[in-house]
Amino acid sequence: MDNDLTIANCLEALRHRLPPGVTLLAVSKGQSPEDVEQAYAAGQRRFGESRLQEAEPKIRALRQRCPGLEWHFIGQLQANKVRPVARAFVWIHSLDRLGLAQRLDRIAGDEGCCPQVLLQVKLRPDPNKVGFSPEQVTSQLPMLMHLSHLKLRGLMTMAPLGLEREQLHRLFSDCRQLAQQLRSHLPSAVARDFNQLSMGMSRDWPQAVAAGSTIVRIGSDIFGSR
Ligand SMILES: *Cc1c(COP(=O)(O)O)cnc(C)c1O
Repeated sequence: MDNDLTIANCLEALRHRLPPGVTLLAVSKGQSPEDVEQAYAAGQRRFGESRLQEAEPKIRALRQRCPGLEWHFIGQLQANKVRPVARAFVWIHSLDRLGLAQRLDRIAGDEGCCPQVLLQVKLRPDPNKVGFSPEQVTSQLPMLMHLSHLKLRGLMTMAPLGLEREQLHRLFSDCRQLAQQLRSHLPSAVARDFNQLSMGMSRDWPQAVAAGSTIVRIGSDIFGSR
């Protein structure tokens, strides 16, 4: 690997460019446990994975070697994977429908955990993406906020491919506004922590951060292409 492009250097460069207060989630899907260890050695603690089957052995392998890792699930969540996901991950960015949220709440109660969750919203037509529509999330919020084993932290969104910078900025701003609107309907105890926006990946994080993102999910800009 080119010296300037080591994982540690890429992390360092990103940290310099991110405003303070924006959390960097290193997306390690498709990367080996050794790559995660390199990022860990460079101070990175929060990692995102999108496929349970790939993540489980990685998480297990690193438990001893890298204490203090915080795993975030960012992939499409299938109903039959909810329990193992609740066991392995403390954050779930991709809660995309009410039925799934209710199931996760029930299972989290069983498991005695309280995952931090972000509601994934779909703000533009995109056949490849899932998520609540703004109307759905708004009308279902009263049910979502009563799921007592989930810690509602905010919204997550992904941009469709091929948008211009302007369009990206508008999309991410729409997400921030939607989150503000929802927050105004929440009881103050819930609203207080409903303050996270998971927006932006390698190709669009500068636009997401400019629009108010608080968590960027970055894979290839850290680890190289998969
Ligand atoms: C893979 C992935 C990312 C990271 O993508 P990069 O282009 O590698 O930065 C971010 N979010 C989600 C949901 C992903 O699946």
